[in-house]
Amino acid sequence: MTVGRWSEPWWAERATGLDVLRVVPWGTHICHFYDTEQDLLDILVPYFHAGLCQHEYCMWIVSDPLDRDKAKAALAKSLNNLDQYLNSGQLEIIDVPTWYAAKGHFDPQRVLAGWLDKLVLARQRGFEGLRLSANALWLDKHQWQDFLEYESLIDDFISSRTILAICSYGLQECNASMLLEVMARHNYTLVRRAGAWQVVENSEYKHAREALWQSEQRFAAAFHTTNAGFLLIQASKGIVLDVNQAWLDMLGYRIHEVLGKRVQDLDFFAELVNYEAICTTLRKSIAFEIPEVQVTRKDGQQRVHSVYVHKVNMQSERCYLVTVLDITEILQARRDLEAALAREKQLADERDQARIQLVRLLAHEIRNPLTALKGFAQVIAVQTADAQTKELSNKLTKEVDRLSEMLSRVLDAFRMQAGNLPMEFSRVDLAKIVESAVEFHRLKATHLLELDLERPLWVEGDGPRLEGLVRNLLSNAEKYSAPGSVIKVRLVGLAESALLSVHDQGIGIPAAEIDRIFEGFYRASNIAPDGPSGEGLGLLLCKHTVERHGGRIWVESEVGRGSTFYVELPLSAGER
Ligand code: ADP
Repeated sequence: MTVGRWSEPWWAERATGLDVLRVVPWGTHICHFYDTEQDLLDILVPYFHAGLCQHEYCMWIVSDPLDRDKAKAALAKSLNNLDQYLNSGQLEIIDVPTWYAAKGHFDPQRVLAGWLDKLVLARQRGFEGLRLSANALWLDKHQWQDFLEYESLIDDFISSRTILAICSYGLQECNASMLLEVMARHNYTLVRRAGAWQVVENSEYKHAREALWQSEQRFAAAFHTTNAGFLLIQASKGIVLDVNQAWLDMLGYRIHEVLGKRVQDLDFFAELVNYEAICTTLRKSIAFEIPEVQVTRKDGQQRVHSVYVHKVNMQSERCYLVTVLDITEILQARRDLEAALAREKQLADERDQARIQLVRLLAHEIRNPLTALKGFAQVIAVQTADAQTKELSNKLTKEVDRLSEMLSRVLDAFRMQAGNLPMEFSRVDLAKIVESAVEFHRLKATHLLELDLERPLWVEGDGPRLEGLVRNLLSNAEKYSAPGSVIKVRLVGLAESALLSVHDQGIGIPAAEIDRIFEGFYRASNIAPDGPSGEGLGLLLCKHTVERHGGRIWVESEVGRGSTFYVELPLSAGER
């Protein structure tokens, strides 16, 4: 498995220390053909010098003609502080048998596992990566095939890790075919020709690398630049294979505190969720989510994370990809918003209560005395013989009616704004409703009412409210036109709706104010100071009633020539 593969872009360029091949990306596997001890030192001394200076973990596996002392002495000439590197454990110089054939025989898998351990160790200790070099001179001819297989494996292994490797081959030990086989398994070949070092690039590798580089670069850019934290865990052992910077920042950890560790041993994880529970859940499904989980950062700060764990296969190994979002601020903002809304609602409720009180007051404290007043006036009108008293009583009755109607409109407007103006819908004949409203106004005999009806026209509506609407339009037509003038009422059926129009020959409405008259508490500027009184609520209620019935209301008007109010209501389903 790949450890540390994405924590740092693996293609990040490293200085090799070699003039002939100055920089290479992590994951480069170089073969080096040498003839003499000096050939080895020419390449490997500057190579390790550069690695140590770049904070890399360095492993030099030496064999004839070099040994540990010779290697050390050569490096010491190049680096003043070599001991420091050796003492801190940043540099290991090991001889070939110790490294390759620890148990007496060469086992490619065991050697690979050894490199992986060293890489994990390097990353845990905060080094940038692993720089190594080994010598193949120790090989017996019968081990050659095994070693070639190992070179193929290691080429694969190195290619996506933060590792650089130089494998040195003695030219005298290799025939032409071996030479080619070795070159094919490395990205670059270093060879001295005519006294100067030269580099040969493996063309197959070059193309594959370019393609891989592009796709990896896209992927890693996403992995590293996103705000989401990512943690890749090896499922079987719970080892953290990779982690991105966003995750480290979220939890306040440093990379070496997490990478290569068992998640079960990490404090944050124990708090996050039990690892066994994750494994059990992911045995049954491919992913699960913990929308809100309380976590403690390394510095003790409490945060809330949203965690998504997904089962993935990486290089045929089962892994868990943990995606983490820090939602602390979002949650806080949500809580603040909820609190603000609750406060707002409380205020609105208080306002509604005050409004309800006022409505009750108007309904009971004013309407009841008005009804009583009307009763007295009617009794007096019946009982008195005096013509003047009778006339006064009748006037009083009319005024009380006007006040009652106004009061009803004010109450309705209050209820409408509070969203509780009751309406009861049933299938009603709009023609009958219009006719009844017109008849009522005909009784007043102030205007000439012309009625043109198509009947029946069934709509789904609240009968009394619709009659109130028509009466309101007729009252306005009467109020704002000269007594004795004609008011034309027309009701026609269209394909899917009924269209009512109420036309008068009155004062009209200024074009600029036409929209405002439906807004409520608005009276047009062309009403004379001693003109009809009103509170500007009628049309607001008309509009509300029409809209509650799924219809629309509008007016066409010309100042001085009259107005036509239109109401369009949808017909009942069966009538279309
Ligand atoms: P009110 O009539 O009590 O003032 P309304 O809401 O019914 O309130 O009407 C709002 C305004 O629209 C009126 O004040 C008036 O300026 C104008 N208006 C309504 N109907 C007519 C009409 N038929 N002719 C001219 N102006 C009208």
